[in-house]
Amino acid sequence: MHATLPRLQSTDFPTLLRGRLETLQVNLGYLCNQSCIHCHVNAGPRRSEIMDEATIRTVLDFLAASGVQQLDLTGGAPEMNPHFRELVRQARRMGVAVTDRCNLTILSEPGHEDLAAFLAAQRVAVVASLPCYLEQNVDHQRGKGVYGRSIDALKQLNRLGYGTGGDLRLNLVYNPVGASLPPEQAGLEAAYKRELQARYDIVFDRLLTITNMPIKRFGSWLISKGKFEAYMQLLKDACRPENLDAVMCRTLLSVDWKGFVYDCDFNQMLDLPMQYAGRPKTHLSQLLGKDIEGCPVVVMDHCYGCTAGQGSSCGGALE
Ligand code: SF4
Ligand code: SF4
Repeated sequence: MHATLPRLQSTDFPTLLRGRLETLQVNLGYLCNQSCIHCHVNAGPRRSEIMDEATIRTVLDFLAASGVQQLDLTGGAPEMNPHFRELVRQARRMGVAVTDRCNLTILSEPGHEDLAAFLAAQRVAVVASLPCYLEQNVDHQRGKGVYGRSIDALKQLNRLGYGTGGDLRLNLVYNPVGASLPPEQAGLEAAYKRELQARYDIVFDRLLTITNMPIKRFGSWLISKGKFEAYMQLLKDACRPENLDAVMCRTLLSVDWKGFVYDCDFNQMLDLPMQYAGRPKTHLSQLLGKDIEGCPVVVMDHCYGCTAGQGSSCGGALE
């Protein structure tokens, strides 16, 4: 894989300072039941890196001490971490809203058949990647048979009340296949809603469009095709300064499976730790009781991926 970091380091991206922390995003490890070709963490069934019980306890201690009200769980397949359900139960007991970034096929894996019911009982929001409403495109990107299993999972979630306009939120995620910006979110959401309802009677709440970051596998693919510079220029030309106020690193803290912290998931993937108190790396346990508002964010050229066009974050286009 081609390294992208050397091409991102020399940057004119503006300085960013953290605002009030609202969301703790935790990567529970790289274990996954799938092994998608585009996966930016190389997750798969044979990965052994998963967050241990002691680090999960630190996550809960941090939530209690900080009063952060949103916990966003990602991976791999976060549900395959053996401590996933206990973490969810404890966070919910504290009144924290929990989001599960779910690959949908995990809901039909042996041993996880009751997962959807568990998520519904705990009122966990589900965010699921569905790169297209057409079978061929999804199976190409995520593996043969994934589309059919994803459709079955969405039907199961609908039966439990997800995506029907109540408190069980079901959001889908779209990102472009190639080197282009995502289409306008509201228009694509309408098309997804129309197609999924007409074809399968499936409903959901929001479609989140996410810009591809010029890092890891996608960045490497751009380099190998000789498109890296052109894509960077596309992002820079489309930069809207008004998006700077809403980029997710201002209100989110990203935690890796060992408990170290980053300004966002992309910086985690680039191994660019959050800068705090002059340490090269900071563990979440070192932030217990600390205020990180006003800390500088580590920015490089990939940050233009968050400010281009309608803007982009884990929550889709920036409002
Ligand atoms: S489902 Fe997600 S985490 Fe798992 S391999 Fe695919 S992209 Fe990676
Ligand atoms: S890539 Fe990360 S650090 Fe850079 S603007 Fe986006 S969220 Fe912030």
